[in-house]
Amino acid sequence: MPKTIKKVGVLTSGGDSPGMNAAIRSVVRTCAYHNIECIGIYRGYQGMIEGDFKEMGPRSVNNIVNKGGTILKSARSLEFKTSEGRKKAHENLTKAGIDALVVIGGDGTFTGGLLFNTEFNFPVMGIPGTIDNDIFGTSHTLGYDTALNTVVDVIDKIRDTASSHNRLFFVEVMGRDAGHIALNAGIGAGAEEILIPEEDLGLDRLLESLQKSKASGKSSSIVVIAEGDKIGKNVFELKDYVEANLPEYDVRVSVLGHMQRGGSPSCFDRVLASRLGVKAVESLLEGKSNYMVGLQNDKVALTPLEQAIKGKTMIDRELLRVSDIMST
Ligand code: ATP
Repeated sequence: MPKTIKKVGVLTSGGDSPGMNAAIRSVVRTCAYHNIECIGIYRGYQGMIEGDFKEMGPRSVNNIVNKGGTILKSARSLEFKTSEGRKKAHENLTKAGIDALVVIGGDGTFTGGLLFNTEFNFPVMGIPGTIDNDIFGTSHTLGYDTALNTVVDVIDKIRDTASSHNRLFFVEVMGRDAGHIALNAGIGAGAEEILIPEEDLGLDRLLESLQKSKASGKSSSIVVIAEGDKIGKNVFELKDYVEANLPEYDVRVSVLGHMQRGGSPSCFDRVLASRLGVKAVESLLEGKSNYMVGLQNDKVALTPLEQAIKGKTMIDRELLRVSDIMST
């Protein structure tokens, strides 16, 4: 028989993403709805080790559904990677009477959660929060949709300058291992070429494509580059390479950086966060553990944490074709 859950701890960990606050709010209010207590754990696993806890009632999460970042703060905790650190964390949870955890973060956060469960048989549910959308078992992670909208908005603005000055812009977006942001925002913003980590288009192909677009009468272009693209050059080296080979181009570089993680979450992310928070708490109450709650075919679904951690997300190859056709 699973033990009865009376007090749920919630934390955010790893990189922050828009929608984390909406997820915290959902976890807190779902607990209140089911008449169980909820404890906010500050600074991710580090706060668990230090006992940085605060009781959260339904009114403590007023006016945060629209806010970026995370009111519980996030941290990367090296100490939690040690068994002594996790032991301290477990002692603190036990002292506080917390009997289950909802962890909001990426695959590192899930790895820590799963390990914690294995060592202490402690119920854990994960909510995927990262703008990269690189978690297996969910079509969308929290913050991805907001980040796409942010990137498209910025590229629209860059385009105004690019077209006024007949320039070529290289825009670097986040995505060290996954090109979801680059591919989708690139198509949405009408990019000429999109370079992503999953696909090595090669330098020749880039030059060819730029030459073709010049010949077809385009006077300005945007190339979207994921930070982890496979072409083997960073965005500034790429600029030098293209200018050396195509002297007719005046290339400018824009690295979007952390602005992609910030801002008010989109409606999609707020709704997603609300749905995932409800499912996470209710699954714990049903005695489930070691799952990630995610979205599959527009329905909330559970994926074992182990699969969510190990599974690889794929880019939609059809989008590559669409992108090619759109740059004709
Ligand atoms: P992001 O997608 O933003 O990188 P993440 O959740 O993958 O998010 P990480 O920094 O990898 O971010 O992990 C967050 C925290 O999870 C770490 O700081 C650490 O406390 C914990 N963690 C990660 N990997 C492990 C591990 N192997 N064992 C124990 N804890 C871990």
